[in-house]
Amino acid sequence: MKRIWQAALIRLTFGFVFCLFLGMIFGYTFTLLFLYTLGLLVWQFYELYRFHQWIRRSGRSLPPDSTGVWGDVFDTVSRLQKKQKKSKKRMQQALARIEESTSALSDGVIMADNTGRLEWWNKSAGDLLGLVKPVDRSQPLTNIVRTPEFFRYFSQKRFGESLVIQSPAKEGTYLEFQTTLYAKNDHLIFVRDVTRLHLLEQMRKDFVANASHELKTPLTVIKGYLETLDMFKDSLPERMQKGVHNMSTQSNRMELLIEDLLLLSRLESNQRADSDQWHNVSDLIQVICDSAKVFKNSGHFLSWDADEESTIYGSYSELYSAFSNLVVNALKYSPDGGEIDISWQVNHEGGVFCVQDNGLGIDPRFIPRLTERFFRVDKGRGSDTAGTGLGLSIVKHVLHHHDSKLDINSQLGFGSTFSCHFPRSRVKHPKLPTHETQEIQRNAS
Ligand code: ADP
Repeated sequence: MKRIWQAALIRLTFGFVFCLFLGMIFGYTFTLLFLYTLGLLVWQFYELYRFHQWIRRSGRSLPPDSTGVWGDVFDTVSRLQKKQKKSKKRMQQALARIEESTSALSDGVIMADNTGRLEWWNKSAGDLLGLVKPVDRSQPLTNIVRTPEFFRYFSQKRFGESLVIQSPAKEGTYLEFQTTLYAKNDHLIFVRDVTRLHLLEQMRKDFVANASHELKTPLTVIKGYLETLDMFKDSLPERMQKGVHNMSTQSNRMELLIEDLLLLSRLESNQRADSDQWHNVSDLIQVICDSAKVFKNSGHFLSWDADEESTIYGSYSELYSAFSNLVVNALKYSPDGGEIDISWQVNHEGGVFCVQDNGLGIDPRFIPRLTERFFRVDKGRGSDTAGTGLGLSIVKHVLHHHDSKLDINSQLGFGSTFSCHFPRSRVKHPKLPTHETQEIQRNAS
């Protein structure tokens, strides 16, 4: 390359010196130099023209024949073009392989930009959602899947867990959406047909709900007889008295269990006991504390702190169940004389309901499992604490209905803190602007 430029420079200098020499001999120095420069310019211009013509044809034909620097330019560009063509072909082959393999997937894959507009999808996603190429390209996904649940899931970026909804394209089909953000917050969405699983899950829920409901009547009868027996317990032999007492305790426990199961079934099937409304948090906590003291008062110190001006948007009965479950747990799992702090704090992110105790605490390895149905850390504690193992599962479902989440911090032997984080859209306080509250009300309706 260096040599080509050296040769070109030598040729140029030689031509220049030759013209100068001839000019000096014949007395036309400037005319000859001018003609030489003009010739050079015309030649350069001609080569440039050939180059331009060749490039305009995308270099499809062979490069023009030339020597020197221009010859090298033509060769280099031609070589680069060949290299580019090769890598383009390789990329096209790789893309075709990816297309082939993704269309063989039974799960749908969708790529959408950071605003949620569709960019690409595989065959399964097209079939599951009824997407048509190229009509639906650049359409917002929320225009294709037009359900309030999906709109909430997508616009509020609740991608921590998957969403199961009915297919917009096929009636009776249920789809599971799982979204991951990548690159510049673009969306990678997996869609799966979970109709069979959904039906099985529905059967399970129906069975639990029906069985619990059916158990209620015989239990009421048994409890009635036990109460009658209890009234005449003094006339019963001592062994029988103990038996009646045990039966009463167990039937009370069973009643609690059935009530919790029915509540959980209602929560799981999204049957709302009452519609979402604004409630004063301080009043709600006051009621919960009063009834918690009735439930268990073994010298516990129950203190609470909540701003009287703050309100929360949700179902009263559901919020009552969730908050009272946490307060009752704090009482159940703290020794007599334990301290329990209940607080409600509003910050720029929303509101936090917090129950802190200095009781037994929980081993960290059990914390992720606490909200599972029937999970109890120490099953042996069952009889003295009269738990069902459903309380925290109820809390989780209630918080899910309220776009909120549960945080658990605990140290074995030192106590636990259960915090419920509510989004700003569900909290009103004179200090907080209220624009988002309208949005959640609109979505909920
Ligand atoms: P339960 O009816 O057994 O209380 P929950 O679902 O409410 O069921 O709680 C699940 C388990 O979590 C409990 O059995 C208990 O072991 C543990 N737990 C819940 N709250 C606390 C707490 N405040 N302190 C210690 N352990 C707790």
